[in-house]
Amino acid sequence: MPSNIIDGQICNTEPASGRSLPPIPVVPPEEVRQVVRRARKAQGRWAELDWPVRRDHLLRFRDLLVERADEVAETISRETGKPPLESMVHEVLNIADLTHYYATRSQRFLRDRDIHQHLFWPLKRGYVRYEPRGIIGVISPWNYPFALPMGDVIMGLAARNAVVTKPSEWTPRSMLKARELLAAAGIDPDLVPVLPGGGQTGAALLDAGVDMVIFTGSATTGRKIGAACGERLIPYVAELGGKDAAIVLRDADIEDAASRVVHGAFLNSGQTCAAFERVLVHEAIAEPFTDAVVRLTQSLRQGDPLDPDAGPVDVGAMVVPSQVQIVQRHIEDALAKGARALTGGAVHTEGGARFVEPTVLVDVTDDMDCWREETFGPTLPIRTFSDVDEAVAIANDSPYGLSAYVFSSSVGKAEDVANRLEAGAVIVNDFFYHHGAPEAPWGGWKSSGVGRVHNGAEGLRELSESRFVSLPRVGASLPIRFPYGKHQESFWRGVGRLLKSPFSRFL
Ligand code: NAD
Repeated sequence: MPSNIIDGQICNTEPASGRSLPPIPVVPPEEVRQVVRRARKAQGRWAELDWPVRRDHLLRFRDLLVERADEVAETISRETGKPPLESMVHEVLNIADLTHYYATRSQRFLRDRDIHQHLFWPLKRGYVRYEPRGIIGVISPWNYPFALPMGDVIMGLAARNAVVTKPSEWTPRSMLKARELLAAAGIDPDLVPVLPGGGQTGAALLDAGVDMVIFTGSATTGRKIGAACGERLIPYVAELGGKDAAIVLRDADIEDAASRVVHGAFLNSGQTCAAFERVLVHEAIAEPFTDAVVRLTQSLRQGDPLDPDAGPVDVGAMVVPSQVQIVQRHIEDALAKGARALTGGAVHTEGGARFVEPTVLVDVTDDMDCWREETFGPTLPIRTFSDVDEAVAIANDSPYGLSAYVFSSSVGKAEDVANRLEAGAVIVNDFFYHHGAPEAPWGGWKSSGVGRVHNGAEGLRELSESRFVSLPRVGASLPIRFPYGKHQESFWRGVGRLLKSPFSRFL
């Protein structure tokens, strides 16, 4: 049982101030099945509505999000300790845009898809029709407690499903606020229930008869979720951890690359799955690049972003106490093995707050935890390389493959490197903006996950069941039926000859 669940209540503190937040009751596992039963009824009603009615509900939600953006951003910042501007941009407006994108396009994305049949199958015509899966179970982490689950909720609704969410026990308020706004937009609360609770509540959701699961969280829990879904033969998507590399080529614009690397490492206090956790810089520009990184890092202002007396804040607090310990361990391990912290390195927990100073590490080697394990905190380890093949080999030498980044003043050169990297996305000359692009596939290779979310039409189809319907075009059908005879055998041998003949190119 996590340390913040006490007598059936989630008891959290504000990470940036240490102040207690009012407790929130856990939904006990035995209640989860009833919630899912009600969601199934609500899903039937939702799927029956005409598309413009469903679209307008979602657009009403979009409008409410924009109108009440400050209130939602404050809720997110209070339980995560991140600056409200980050909550606003990367969580609230990100979801307002995603809602707009899918609400206005879902009918087109899910319309019947004609299947053009080849060889002799033109005797048939066929299409694929998309139906809702039913109930999507969403289990989410604490680092983007609004944007991560809400992307799945909105897409699930756009594909005519119900979506039951189990938010992280460290950040349940953001999704409770989302539920309030969804209800205000006229969306039946039974269609989008939110279940505050820990791992037990999440496990109960898997057991409660959901038709698909979208899990975002650690690889350790992801493996358990995958096993549970395999046992129940239900599809799942797993969005897991990362150890993303940023390769700064010799011809990169040093100032620009340094400022994006600093942003990509320290945004959300480094608690981003696609944060820059391994920076590889060409040895010829290592010194000016590192100097720029250190200068920019030292200019960052850290503090309680909701304290009106604190002034502007760039880097906030860390959400979970055990994550602070992991970051601290990675810094200590690196220093013990010969790395140097050019800036930062200290942890501040006075008054129950949780801050780790943005930390730039150099002289980093392959055997250090900060290079091999996911840190998920504000550290920026830098190594150098002498040629591109070496940089690609080092970047690919990781169990993870979520995103990667390449910096160069030649887009063509960067693109060549991008296509050699084992990652679900590679971004040239920028940071991880791509989670905010609802049309782009989001997901990872290797231990970074299974499947993709977002992803435009393909993403909505993934949240649907499909049915191939085949109809005869003309009365004839192919000669393979009882009773078998010589004429059938020679017909099919002819098919084989046709397949390997020059005419096959017309098939
Ligand atoms: P976590 O795996 O500890 O928890 C994630 C969720 O799973 C929580 O809601 C938790 O209560 C629930 N859970 C735990 N045990 C469970 C069980 N047995 N059955 C069902 N549910 C269970 O992860 P976390 O610490 O909350 O999040 C941090 C991790 O998430 C990092 O590894 C980070 O990289 C990853 N992450 C990935 C992405 C992505 O898109 N790839 C995005 C954000 C975070």
